[in-house]
Amino acid sequence: METKPYRVLLYYLYVPIENHEEFAVEHLAACKALELKGRILVASEGINGTVSGTVEQTNQYVDMMKSDPRFADIVFKIDEADGHAFKKMHVRPRNELVTLRLEDDINPNQTTGRYLSPKEFFEQMQAEDTIVLDARNDYEFDLGHFRGAIKPDITNFRELPDWVRENKQMFEGKKILTYCTGGIRCEKFSGWLVEEGFEDVGQLHGGIATYGKDPEVQGDLWDGQMYVFDERIAVPINQKEHVIVGRDIYSGEPCERYVNCANPECNKKILCSEENEHKHMRSCSHECRVHPRNRYIVEHDLSEEEVAERLQRIEDGLLTK
Ligand SMILES: [Zn+2]
Repeated sequence: METKPYRVLLYYLYVPIENHEEFAVEHLAACKALELKGRILVASEGINGTVSGTVEQTNQYVDMMKSDPRFADIVFKIDEADGHAFKKMHVRPRNELVTLRLEDDINPNQTTGRYLSPKEFFEQMQAEDTIVLDARNDYEFDLGHFRGAIKPDITNFRELPDWVRENKQMFEGKKILTYCTGGIRCEKFSGWLVEEGFEDVGQLHGGIATYGKDPEVQGDLWDGQMYVFDERIAVPINQKEHVIVGRDIYSGEPCERYVNCANPECNKKILCSEENEHKHMRSCSHECRVHPRNRYIVEHDLSEEEVAERLQRIEDGLLTK
């Protein structure tokens, strides 16, 4: 098999880091010296990062991390790539690695859901009385998810605990399986579910990223693509079949192309074809379309008449539907 010249590493570890702000500065310098690009978050509770670089650069980074006793247990998920997946290198200090803002914080090294291998997850998600709960943001779910998984009615991961409390009856007497991109969000979220009194809680160990690479399950029962927080945006998971679940927000046609709403104050991620992007001036609503700083209008240097004409066409289109 041909190997590509670059790699993208995805990893996290919940481990105490003293003076994490100082560590962030030093770690940034080390990453820059290796000429890596990416985004790393560090908190007193651990580290979570995605970095890209050549095979050699990323190998050096892995060696550097493994030689630090704190990080020796990190599992790196590796994707091959044709180039960098980021434009810059950032290491940012944070209060928490994933934003859940729980009233009583969870230490996943003490309380967390059962870890399930891809094979175990594959088998258990098909069992009766089992709820598969997506622990990500809505736009991630919309691009791809496990077949039959539940999409919580939230826009942001941090709203998930409240949503579970409001929908408690849905989970009565059921086994709960959770999953997310690389596993880090489930560490805390499944721990929180256990603390909430749910008895049978499992989490996909290593997340969707690991599931897609598992030689046995090969991403089976995953539909669509996996949303990633770098320039690739969408990554394939199911090696057996590709079912498109994403839908163009304007036409409802199958679609896996994300753009950001041109209203800078909205910036919402919207799935749409290139044709519809132009037709609708890359905006999620009429309000966003007529926003005075609409980026699409600026980029395409549209005159007032041209904007008015497109708005009229959209309105006509809606009337004939
Ligand atoms: Zn918008």
